[in-house]
Amino acid sequence: MSNQILEIRLSPKGIKPVRNGHPWVFRNALAGRPVPASVPEDVVRTVTGNGLRWETTGPAIVCDPTGTPIGWGIYNEASRLALRMITRNSSSAIHRGTFTSLIRDSISRRDDPRRDPDTDVFRLLFGEADGFPGLAVDRLGDALVMEISGAFAWENRGWIVQDFLRLTGAQRILIEPDREMLDRDGVPGPLSSEEHRGEGEAAAEPAAEPAAGKALIVRENGISWYAEPGGGQKTGFYCDQQVNRRRLGELSRGLSVLDGFCYQGGFGLTALSRGAARVTCADSSADALAIVERNRALQGADADRLEIVRGDLFSMLRNNAVGADSLERYDLVILDPPKLVPARHHRDAGLRAYKDLNMAAMRKMRQGARLATFSCSGAVSRDDFRTALAWAAADAGRVVRIEELFSQGPDHPVPLHFPEAEYLKGFLLRIH
Ligand code: SAH
Repeated sequence: MSNQILEIRLSPKGIKPVRNGHPWVFRNALAGRPVPASVPEDVVRTVTGNGLRWETTGPAIVCDPTGTPIGWGIYNEASRLALRMITRNSSSAIHRGTFTSLIRDSISRRDDPRRDPDTDVFRLLFGEADGFPGLAVDRLGDALVMEISGAFAWENRGWIVQDFLRLTGAQRILIEPDREMLDRDGVPGPLSSEEHRGEGEAAAEPAAEPAAGKALIVRENGISWYAEPGGGQKTGFYCDQQVNRRRLGELSRGLSVLDGFCYQGGFGLTALSRGAARVTCADSSADALAIVERNRALQGADADRLEIVRGDLFSMLRNNAVGADSLERYDLVILDPPKLVPARHHRDAGLRAYKDLNMAAMRKMRQGARLATFSCSGAVSRDDFRTALAWAAADAGRVVRIEELFSQGPDHPVPLHFPEAEYLKGFLLRIH
């Protein structure tokens, strides 16, 4: 790609979702190949000015099937996801300021009075859901972590970092490339993590030392946590569960709680801090469990009330043995597995995995106990998940009622026109 502006026509079928505001256009929704757009020189300067880089991607005027412009997007020759819409306003060309405005608006939407005042970790920008493709940015205390999954965001990270430093006053920004997604987007590897520092430095310099392994301390719901961007998972902290951790914490007073697939102990340690009688944190990752113990010590929580168990939860639940105990002893079981359905074509096998996991828990849980169960697979809808849970209840021979619904927090908003953004869903179930 180059600074050439392209003109892209959508097929009659392809245009519908775009008209409704959907940001993704797959290659089969294009009517023919992109052609060079004939635009005045000043429009070219606008679209390519101020350090905007068009390398793997190119700027595109998007047209309806008759050739009438309907907006602007980012075209990627390498990707099956050929076009990402930026605006449905075709009258003014996209430019660096368009993207800075997207970032500024996204940050200002995070000013949320519902957030616990003693929380300094939350998502500032949630990719396409906030209008910026291929970029997720979390605030972790004084630092920001950018997870980049799109070619445009990767190649433009220089000024994106500058915008975030200026608009948030953050001290440093860690960049984590999502290598698999960037590879699909035509960005050649190897790609490494970067660290950029603020405080008036003229240009952000990639640090000689990679960001991996540098733990930060953050506050969530009034509790301190280690977060390890690069070394851990995702951006280092799953802030999408913040509201649910708080809610389940409230319900945990005096209870015996199993935090299954605990990672750093987000649910279990929140429950402990809210007065749970006993908590078991279980995960297959030794690294994750080491962070649980460090978090417990950091929080000054009572070691006698916390049990840490390493192993495969599928077999632990099937064998009704979590550490030294059976499932009957828990009043609240939390299951937050990793994505069991990585993509739509794995949907059936994935739904069976959700069913098996939850059935194993339901079968042995005591009468009246609660099960908080989650799915973070974008390819599984809330209804699909609910159906899998109904199969689980039927096969477990239990009467199960939904008491509450869970979703990703308001810092991971779901545009009505972009349902794919809704990936995290959960149910609080009562088992009889
Ligand atoms: N509940 C966590 C996030 C969970 S992420 C939070 O609130 O932050 C999913 C976790 O499941 C990861 O920590 C991963 O190590 C763990 N995991 C994956 N497969 C597993 C398995 N078969 N048994 C137990 N844990 C598993």
